[in-house]
Formats: sequence, structure tokens, C-alpha cells
Amino acid sequence: MSLSRRDFNRSITRLGALGLAAQLAPQVTSPLFAQTANRKIGYAVIGLGRISDHFIRGIQDTTNSKVTALVSGHRDKAEKIAAQYGVPKSSIYSYENIEDMRSNSAIDAVYVGLPNSMHAEYSIRSAKAGKHVLCEKPMATTVPEAQSMIDAAKAANVKLMIAYRCHYETTNLAAVKLIRDGALGQLQSIQGAFGFSCGPEEWRLTKSLGGHGPLFDVGIYCLNASRYLTGEEPASFSAYAYSNPNDPRFREVEESINWITRFPSGVIASCNTTYGAPMDGYIRAYGSKGWLEINPAFVYEGLRLRAEYRDDAGKFIQLDQPNAEKDPIHFTKEAAHFSDCILNNKTPKSPGEEGLRDMTCIREIYRSAGITMA
Ligand code: NAD
Repeated sequence: MSLSRRDFNRSITRLGALGLAAQLAPQVTSPLFAQTANRKIGYAVIGLGRISDHFIRGIQDTTNSKVTALVSGHRDKAEKIAAQYGVPKSSIYSYENIEDMRSNSAIDAVYVGLPNSMHAEYSIRSAKAGKHVLCEKPMATTVPEAQSMIDAAKAANVKLMIAYRCHYETTNLAAVKLIRDGALGQLQSIQGAFGFSCGPEEWRLTKSLGGHGPLFDVGIYCLNASRYLTGEEPASFSAYAYSNPNDPRFREVEESINWITRFPSGVIASCNTTYGAPMDGYIRAYGSKGWLEINPAFVYEGLRLRAEYRDDAGKFIQLDQPNAEKDPIHFTKEAAHFSDCILNNKTPKSPGEEGLRDMTCIREIYRSAGITMA
């Protein structure tokens, strides 16, 4: 499926309106609330790698969620983790038999912590097994896959949330509030970066599992932040990609990509991402009355918000707010939110449509850089 630029703009605007509406609409409390107030949502964690470790630890600090099942290709590893977190051996599944989760009433939802190209398949199979889906970013590796995940969740009448943990994290939310409150005046421009030097053995460097390069994995944080800081959907993109031809890591996916986004109000965002160099994640916004910076912005702890602006009375305000919250707090908040949505029949703040918006933007960025993405 490919969209003309006009179709792209139209679809992105429509999705944007939906996303904003979902965020601004008053949350409706289900009549089931009283019955479900003390219930904990049970999660099956699919894929027991690095991010799932954060998620499993994070969920322990929630009051409404627990890990009740594990899905892994490595039985020994799964049994060790199961013993640590009180998951019964009978609730350990392999990738081949996740459909058996259907009959396990201790599983309400799944958390998909697999390589990018596996997100769509395991989200769709889980939805078909009647389980709500919390899927890691990037939502999928193609736009049609992302759409089919949304369709599958709707058809199965389950909820789908994309794990954009910064949507639930204190410092990023404080920056959004400062901008919405008008502290910076009329927003002018945004700068951001996030990248790292990727080890040669990582699945991230393969087309079959990573899909594409660092934009899918870490650049997506800058893209998503430029959208939530402005509260707008991009009007157009311009981008360059580069891969060192002498570096064998970048035979299949690009090394670096830099892009510029123009938003309808005139804000221009300029962002960089790479798998070739350490690039601490930050995001900076400049407005007519001042600036703010989150640096670091996207790591699991130690975030810091700084800002300088003049208030309405012309008083000079200087903010410096280090965030003392410790990992895995982002995952605690994210899981608690999704469980609350399930328990009280609410729409997640980062539903599948939010993931699809990023996927559609990423396709446009790649198109501008001369890289084809489905
Ligand atoms: P990882 O390599 O540490 O874990 C991947 C897991 O998938 C492992 O348990 C592995 O055994 C399993 N797996 C199943 N089939 C596999 C296959 N064919 N090849 C390789 N692994 C296979 O990866 P990760 O860093 O945990 O990333 C997983 C997902 O989480 C990615 O989509 C990534 O973008 C996302 N992620 C999100 C954040 C965040 O902050 N939200 C941070 C890092 C990664």
C-alpha cells in the first residue's frame, strides 16, 4: 500500500485528531469498576530479553498488574524467571503454542518484547487468542502490518497499546505541560537526537528482524517527542541517510538518518539518529518567549528538564528539574495505565493508532531519504 502525499497528509491529520481527542476526552468510568477495583491484570510476557526484564521488574510495583505467564524459546531461562516471579510452570509457553493461552484465564493481556519484525505476528496471534496487547515500539516494520494489528485487536474486541513509555513519564509530561501552558510562547523549532553504537551481533542490524535501522529503534523517540511537544501532526519531511560502506555492520540497514519535519503551525523539527556512534538522547524546543530542554530525555532514569522563559509579567524564569525516579518506574507507569484501561474500559493514551502514525511518518522520512519501506 502506498499513499500519495495528499493522502498521507489527510490520513495523518485524521489520525492526529483521533489521537488528540483520545488524550483530551474525559475518561469514562465503566460500571464494572466497583467489581474490578481490586483485580490485577495478568500479563503473559512474550520474549524474555532486555526490555522484558525492565517490564517484569516494573510491573512488580503496580497495584493493578502482575506477571502470570511467560513465552520463550528457551525453557530453562523461562523456568528461572518463572520461579523468581511466582509464575507457575504450567503457564510457560513456547512461540509455537501461544494460542493455548486462550484457555488460561490468569492471562488477560500480553506484553510483546520481541525483535521488531515479530511484533505484528505475535500481537495478532495474541489478540486472536482473546488477550489484550501491549506491544513495544516500533509497532511493526511496515504500515500495512501496523494497520492489520489495529484491525485484529478491533475484530477480537481487545485493547491494543504501544509501549511509548515517555507518554507516561513525569519529565516528558512536564515539558508538554509547559508548552501547552504557553510558557515558551509560540513554538518555533525543535532539535533532537538519540542513537548508540550498535554491537555487530545485534538482531537490530538485520533486515529480517530489525526491519530498518536506528529510526525504528531509537530515532522514533525524537519523532514521537516532536509530535507530542507540538501536539501537531507533521505536514512534510526531508531526510538524508548515510551508511559507512566500509563498516560491515551496515550491510542491511542504514547507519544514520537525519530528518527535518515541518509542522502545520510552522514549527520545524530537526532530528538525528544513528547506530554508529553514542548519541545521548535529548530534545530541545525553542519558542518566542524561551526554550526548554530534556537531557537526557529518553533513558530509563536520570531525566532532567531545564527551561528559561519570561512569564506574562516579564519575569525571567529559570527551571532546572532533575528527576530522581529510578528505573523501572517508566514501565510501572506504563503497565499501570494499560491495566487501568482494561479494568475500566478506557482507551489507552498510546493506542495502536499512535503507533501507526509514527510508522506512517517513518515511511515518509525513508521515502525522502531514498529508502523504500512498505
Ligand atoms: P533483546 O534482544 O534483548 O530481546 C529480544 C527477545 O526476543 C529475546 O528474549 C530473544 O530470545 C527473543 N527472540 C525470539 N525470537 C528471536 C529471534 N528470531 N531473534 C532474536 N531474538 C528472538 O531485545 P530488546 O532490546 O529487549 O528489544 C526488544 C523490543 O523492545 C524491540 O522491538 C525494541 O525496539 C524494543 N525496545 C524498547 C525499549 C523501550 O524503552 N521501550 C528499549 C529497548 C528496546
